Amino acid sequence: MLIVSGIPVSSGVAIGKAYILAHALNEVEPYLISEQNILNEIKRFNQAIKQLKSELLNLKKELKKNRMNEFGSFIDVQLAIINDPKISKNPLEIIKKTKQNAEWALKVQMEEIITKFNSIENSYIRERKNDVYQVCETLIKYLIGHESKQLSNDKNRIIVAHDISPADALKFKNSNNIAFVTDIGGTTSHTAILAKSINIPSVVGTQKAKNLISNGDNIIVDGDHGYVIINPTDEVINEYRLKQNLYELESKKLLNLQKLTSKTIDKVPVNLYVNIEDTNNIESVILNNTKGVGLFRTEFIFMDKHRMLDENEQFIIYKNLTKALPNKTITIRTLDSGGDKVIEHMPNTNQNPALGLRAIRFCLAEPDVFITQIKALLRAAHYGDIRILIPMLSSDNELRQVKLLIQRAKDILTSERKKFNPKTLVGGMIEVPAAAIDAESFANQLDFLSIGTNDLIQYTLAVDRTDDAVSHLYDSSHPALLKLIKGVIDAGTKAGIEVSLCGEMAGDPKLTKLLIGLGLTNFSMHPSSLLKVKKVILESEFSKVKSKAKKILSTHDKIEIENLINNLNN
Ligand code: PEP
Ligand code: MG
Repeated sequence: MLIVSGIPVSSGVAIGKAYILAHALNEVEPYLISEQNILNEIKRFNQAIKQLKSELLNLKKELKKNRMNEFGSFIDVQLAIINDPKISKNPLEIIKKTKQNAEWALKVQMEEIITKFNSIENSYIRERKNDVYQVCETLIKYLIGHESKQLSNDKNRIIVAHDISPADALKFKNSNNIAFVTDIGGTTSHTAILAKSINIPSVVGTQKAKNLISNGDNIIVDGDHGYVIINPTDEVINEYRLKQNLYELESKKLLNLQKLTSKTIDKVPVNLYVNIEDTNNIESVILNNTKGVGLFRTEFIFMDKHRMLDENEQFIIYKNLTKALPNKTITIRTLDSGGDKVIEHMPNTNQNPALGLRAIRFCLAEPDVFITQIKALLRAAHYGDIRILIPMLSSDNELRQVKLLIQRAKDILTSERKKFNPKTLVGGMIEVPAAAIDAESFANQLDFLSIGTNDLIQYTLAVDRTDDAVSHLYDSSHPALLKLIKGVIDAGTKAGIEVSLCGEMAGDPKLTKLLIGLGLTNFSMHPSSLLKVKKVILESEFSKVKSKAKKILSTHDKIEIENLINNLNN
């Protein structure tokens, strides 16, 4: 028995047989093509391109049919890569020039592209590198005739691979696969997001699982703790079967909570909202009886299209949301580009992106971009309960400029005789320590506040949220952070405005009681966390958790804080 650990990205337990996906790129060898066969080789390459294109287009149609079209953008990224002449044309030149085989020509070309990517220090771009890699791997599989071997019909397969493309992950969803294990990838990789959405236990970033596992090995995947157990003893298998049963029972039981009103035992209402990145994945807002969308990260609609959208294009997207979610509050955050989110053709400070011209700073430097988005939002707010959320505010002066630009957008809309809601609420994200410390001033000038702990932790503790090397220092129960959160909640309460929390902390059930104890009554999170958090809310008693949270707030030692949080949860 051997245990490998990685990053848990999708919870649950799977027990099955390893199915190793060939790493086709490793099998490519160069060989010479005779002059008269060059045309044939070119045909072979073009045929592979055509096959992958048609496969991706079919997959896209299927996604639509299965109401999973939110993943269409992953397929679009891969289609864009295939259509790029660097992939679809340059290898043809290499074949002609070097008289070498098609798969070798593609590998040479891919390595050149990847080398260029490697010189860029940015996690979003790094993800794109993986997309290029995955497209080339699939093309090479076609060229060396691997594909038919890949999809046999064994039951309970656990896919073990160097990496899995989103397209492969979707294909595997419909067959007998019960878990994914990959050597590379992180929590934000496309495959990780997909695995979470299709509910398959998954562990990524194991680095060495593929080398240590052989086809047919018995495997346990623990998607909650990130363990992959190779050839477990019968005792361990039995233990995990028990865990598996409990997990399944628990998930079924949670569904019973969907319609219940979210409130504590002592009847304090705790509102739940959903975080979204696009407009397709919104059924959970209604299914789970939530108050609405607490955070729509609009930069993703620009990132998917690789460009800015004009006022009308944006207006249609936002207005459609009001139609899809009648009677729900829809909180739409203005563009938060920069940092680790890069939109092509837009400037990005490469010195230190997290501290650079990102979010509202970028929008104030490019007022046309901001005014265009505000106009679209004000117009859509005429049709439903849309409210505007401004990211990364850090000073009063910035807020003044924001207000002036919003007024300017209203004046333009009036002169253009376009319908809009002049009373649209405007809130601010508190994710910079300066804003948290000065929260009273922001609370007095805004209609609502939303605490973005993902960034607030990064900036308070000086820990880059994208850097694995310091991830052990990224601490969501650090006493300084808890004090900042408490201060923001109190400032909002004093000003009589809503304060919500929309960072990943909101979706961590281990922190739910603590946050309620600090006075938080609005949580916004990824849909997959909603019911787990709701369960804890329903079991909480505000008066009790409040006094325990007070004790935690006055504690400084990390271990002691952890013990107190455990005690609060038991
Ligand atoms: C946050 O910082 O907590 C947040 C929700 O915003 P994002 O993760 O998009 O930076
Ligand atoms: Mg943020």
